[in-house]
Amino acid sequence: MTGIVCTPLLSEWLVLRGQVPDLVHTGRSSDGGLGPDSGQPMLVAGVAGALSDELEPGDLVVADEIRGAGEPIPSQASPFLVGELRRAGLTVHHGPLMTTPRIVDAPAARRTLAESGALAVDTESALLAAAAPQGQAIAVRAIVDTPDHRLLRPGTLVRGPRALRSLRRAAPAIDAWAAATGDREVVLAGPRSFCAGVERAIEIVERALARHGAPVYVRRQIVHNLHVVRDLERRGAVFVEEVGEVPEGSLVVLAAHGVAPQVRSDAAERGLRVIDATCPLVTKVHTEVRRFVARSNTVFLIGHHDHEEVVGTRGESPDQVIVVADPDEAARVRVPDPQRVSYVMQTTLAVDEAEATAAVLRNRFPALTAPHKDDICYATTNRQRAVRAVARRADLVLVLGSQNSSNSHRLAEVATAEGVEAHLVDDASGVDLRWLRGATRIGITAGASAPPQLVDDLVRCLSGLGRVSVTETSVVDEDIRFTLPREVS
Ligand code: SF4
Repeated sequence: MTGIVCTPLLSEWLVLRGQVPDLVHTGRSSDGGLGPDSGQPMLVAGVAGALSDELEPGDLVVADEIRGAGEPIPSQASPFLVGELRRAGLTVHHGPLMTTPRIVDAPAARRTLAESGALAVDTESALLAAAAPQGQAIAVRAIVDTPDHRLLRPGTLVRGPRALRSLRRAAPAIDAWAAATGDREVVLAGPRSFCAGVERAIEIVERALARHGAPVYVRRQIVHNLHVVRDLERRGAVFVEEVGEVPEGSLVVLAAHGVAPQVRSDAAERGLRVIDATCPLVTKVHTEVRRFVARSNTVFLIGHHDHEEVVGTRGESPDQVIVVADPDEAARVRVPDPQRVSYVMQTTLAVDEAEATAAVLRNRFPALTAPHKDDICYATTNRQRAVRAVARRADLVLVLGSQNSSNSHRLAEVATAEGVEAHLVDDASGVDLRWLRGATRIGITAGASAPPQLVDDLVRCLSGLGRVSVTETSVVDEDIRFTLPREVS
């Protein structure tokens, strides 16, 4: 059984008692022992003092690392708990927690500790957490006092209960953590994560920054992933919605999803220097559209109406391109001349669904002409094959990717279609701990725009809940690379 330790000061107030019944003990784990041989994950809950006034009484600190007299104790599953608590509406800080032999109250002493990067200080966590297996301790502490609001002052009578209320509200998340602990097998899908088009787009921005310095303007998200965008922002990229926001004469990178010709004209009118990061496989679809339009054909674009790639592709000829989202729309669509019709596809669709839509069109329009080569790209196809294989071996599939990533959504849908529970999350903090309860075989994949590091981070978090063995199910090796545009090559 998992250990949840409620530290002595807290247990006197009986904050959690009744909220997590049978698991809260004073200074003892729920299985009766705290020794290193207990071999179970452990959560330490209690109160603490903040080391800076940026934290407020009642805020929670979840330690990513617990520092005491010995080596720092990593808390590998802490991102799970941080996400769970934030979704419950609590203010949570995630960073190092310091344990000292005595209460540190004086502001100067706290400032000195703060210089180490620690967020808060207590007197017990490191001592208790040392009993947990490596990486499997968690400490959650509610702030009572800060350098400006010291402990031994009358205000503590107000701040103390505020901290305890926060801990009480944290109890369901702590319950969920306890229920999620256990040993597991992780099955990684191969291939997963970055495709050649995404790697190229990111490299273009990186090289533009290295060559021209910040800021480098980028129209829209360079790829549909929050982590990639934030990382490039930190390095000097400035993301804008339209080229009209870019100062005249500046450098602008066009994102991987492609743009309508109108965007290039707008950029030229402003005298912008343009570097095009459109994936060559998206460019291929634009070329097909132009070819079909030149034959005076109506072009069905099978895809999602509002997706940026679809908006850009349709922009090649808005009067002649009709977006068709699904078989129902394919059954209803009307054209001026049924003898002059062609179709193309968004590159990141679910292969089977897109084919079902194309089949309805073929049925209705025998003269329909197809693209020379499949539009759904190699990366989308391979990742869908891989997640299908993994879903057959798993009782839960987690897909890493952002909510605006089409290909990531499709991965979750493909897994679901195999009859397994599947969820799309931006990173480990997006995992609802309740999904993990009873899930002993977890399949993991990542959309083509999600950095591989996110997969490593998620596996590491899972290993904070118990022992994890990792295998990989690979359906194909990928070795595709695209050349860079001359402006940055
Ligand atoms: Fe290009 Fe396919 Fe990657 Fe999109 S998913 S960037 S089309 S390789």
